[in-house]
Amino acid sequence: MSGEQTDSRDATAEALRRDARRLQGALGLHARQARLEVERLLMHALGIGRAQLIAHPEKAALAATDVRYAAMLARRLAGEPLDYILSRREFYGLEFEISPAVLIPRADTELLVELALARVPPDGRGCIADLGTGSGCVAIAIACARPGLRVLAIDRSREALRVAARNRLRHRAYNVLLAQGDWLAGVAPGALCGIVSNPPYVRSDDPHLPALAREPQTSLVSGADGLQDWRHIVLQAPRCLAAHGWLLMEHGYDQAASCRALLDSGGFADVFSARDLGGHERVSGGSAGRGG
Ligand code: GLN
Repeated sequence: MSGEQTDSRDATAEALRRDARRLQGALGLHARQARLEVERLLMHALGIGRAQLIAHPEKAALAATDVRYAAMLARRLAGEPLDYILSRREFYGLEFEISPAVLIPRADTELLVELALARVPPDGRGCIADLGTGSGCVAIAIACARPGLRVLAIDRSREALRVAARNRLRHRAYNVLLAQGDWLAGVAPGALCGIVSNPPYVRSDDPHLPALAREPQTSLVSGADGLQDWRHIVLQAPRCLAAHGWLLMEHGYDQAASCRALLDSGGFADVFSARDLGGHERVSGGSAGRGG
């Protein structure tokens, strides 16, 4: 290795350490997490992958003084989520564009995709709906795995639908149909063989809300008990489901019993809850016995 390379390697390492320490101090991150975030910001500013970051320390040394990198670091220091700064988030093995108009996809929500895929054979046809699609991650993950299916992705927010449209294009998920609407209000009776949703379900007085302040509050908060939208969808869903159609919705870790009770009283059959990787009951659902 040349002396010059050694110098830039040292300079890069020092810049990375300094910025990671600043992030640690500002946000209370673990050292390793802070270091990973600094690396991701650098890779993004430079448009390179991790291998190149290591192989070309001279570039990284330059980027550590780059204005774009500095601007992104400042946003992160001010508490903006890293995923919004990078405009990217991985979900179900696919990369999605995101913006502050949509919720940041959570790994827990992959359970919703898995449960839906278990209900549609690989060559399955028909139409399902994803309510409150946001970035479109749930709808697109299902649509990519089931190309014969049509997935109606509904959101009230036009800004969210613009993000979802770019994600549909990115993944060529042309079996996703985007529509602006208020939950199921515009959907024809009996039109759907299934419904998935990750609706807002956080209680308006939930102590975790300040930590989620950068995300769209209308995608998170749903009345005093967090179940206002759940209740609404459970009431609307039977009208839109065909015979034996199913409904699957995400909820908070302590809401499963209340959600099953809602499904029971809404006339759903085979009501159940499923656990996420953390062992929490995270999705509940049931089927519309008679349909209509
Ligand atoms: N799981 C999210 C959180 O608690 C909430 C998502 C939602 O309300 N749909 O951070």
